[in-house]
Amino acid sequence: MHTTWPGCIEASSLPYSSATSLRAIALAFFGVTNPKTTGNSIRVGISSCLLGAKVRYDGNHKLDSFIADTLGRHFEFVPVCPELAIGMGVPRAPIRLVGQAASPRAVGVMDPDMDVTDKLHRYGRRMAHELSDISGYIFKSKSPSCGMERVKVFPARGGPGIKNGRGVYAAALMAAQPLLPTEEEGRLGDPTLRENFIESVFAYRRWQELTARGVTASRLVEFHARHKLVLMAHDAIRLRWLGRIIAQTDRARARETGKRYIEEFMSVLRRPPTRARHSNVLMHLLGYLKRDLDHADKRELLTLIDRYRRGHLPRAVPLAILAHHFRRHPHPYVAGQYYLEPAPEELMLRCGV
Ligand code: SF4
Repeated sequence: MHTTWPGCIEASSLPYSSATSLRAIALAFFGVTNPKTTGNSIRVGISSCLLGAKVRYDGNHKLDSFIADTLGRHFEFVPVCPELAIGMGVPRAPIRLVGQAASPRAVGVMDPDMDVTDKLHRYGRRMAHELSDISGYIFKSKSPSCGMERVKVFPARGGPGIKNGRGVYAAALMAAQPLLPTEEEGRLGDPTLRENFIESVFAYRRWQELTARGVTASRLVEFHARHKLVLMAHDAIRLRWLGRIIAQTDRARARETGKRYIEEFMSVLRRPPTRARHSNVLMHLLGYLKRDLDHADKRELLTLIDRYRRGHLPRAVPLAILAHHFRRHPHPYVAGQYYLEPAPEELMLRCGV
């Protein structure tokens, strides 16, 4: 069966397959309900050309194998090509950004009178509304439509472009969905940025599931409690601030508090963790084992955490030893933490800082 997706791309033309069982494993690891039982999956918007669709102005694609083959097994991609969707066709005359970086116009490279700014902007707002259930978005970099940052903007009177703009479609969509985790394909090659994006997508998905069930004071408390160590790795000071927001909630103000909370929560996740902050979290975890481990085990963990902090080991090493000890000495608070949940190995989480 052929399915026409937003941006007029036929699913059958895309070069990735879904692997439901792997996705189900990933969802379970990250605390998201199994799609087999609810009909839900993690939907992520994406620039169509990154999945191999030949929709670029010159009739080519920009297939990204990691995104299509690896992330594609864990996410249900929703491909969108805004230039195709607004009727520009393939092949088409190329466009570029011209004017002020904060409000550039998208005009033809050869024909500056061809201005598609308003159409792209309207389409971005429309898709933000239609795709209200997506949990993230991967944009094609450098594009005057899809680029998320550092897109070249050319002076109206001519001259070289400066890399300080954002694609018109991406800008409209991101303004309409400010909480949505977003990233560009090139930056996903950086292990730290990749982990940060994937972690944010799963966290945002859990928030969407919470809001679908209804925001209550007790659900807010539980959501915050289970993300404490994740938040600590990003910003321990703002973790305390988030805790104060949660402490102020009551049944009557749960929705209002939830809105304030998730804005701050997603803002904290946008700040990538550092080795020092992850080391603090690992030491914090070690504290829960202080009565259970003998001197040699504690010393081994302290050494591993210190070697990780100095960049001599990946985080996966002290985490694996901690997980081993927590299996023998379970702790309910630690067991509920998303921080310790194992990720599918092929997503290569924990390879960054
Ligand atoms: S970058 Fe965006 S507009 Fe350009 S071909 Fe890819 S999806 Fe289409």
